[in-house]
Amino acid sequence: MIIDITKGPNNPILRKKSPDHGKITKKTLKLLKDMEDSMIATNGVGIAAPQIGVNTRVVHITIGKERKTFPMINPEILECSSETEVETEGCLSLPGKWGPVERSVWVKAKFTNEKGEERIMLFDEFEAKIVQHEVDHINGTLFIDHVPEGKLRDKE
Ligand SMILES: [Zn+2]
Repeated sequence: MIIDITKGPNNPILRKKSPDHGKITKKTLKLLKDMEDSMIATNGVGIAAPQIGVNTRVVHITIGKERKTFPMINPEILECSSETEVETEGCLSLPGKWGPVERSVWVKAKFTNEKGEERIMLFDEFEAKIVQHEVDHINGTLFIDHVPEGKLRDKE
């Protein structure tokens, strides 16, 4: 089911640190499906549960050329590269806003998949940026917090 995206730089749902997601239940799978539907409907490349109004540590990123949906439950960044790069970011929750964000080139992340299996994986390039962006969301951080003053702009 497509759910309206939670929006706004000061929205309390987006600004709250989400608690750990407990046991994976039917409710979790429904949440993952609603998040996927809502992400696809808005042409997103990643989405976090608070963006459809649920404060829990569940995100989707997309991977590969086909931008396949990849669920991560309780994702945690274990290690990140000291090498960084600056790229332009936007967010479904801040429509029309864009700005440069400096992030690590790769991250090593631990998470649980939708079957309840714990995984540790290395993400690089575009996928690493999405992981960092989505983990920020479940910590109540938005990309605009990383944009240097005066560099945030409206979409051209
Ligand atoms: Zn976002």
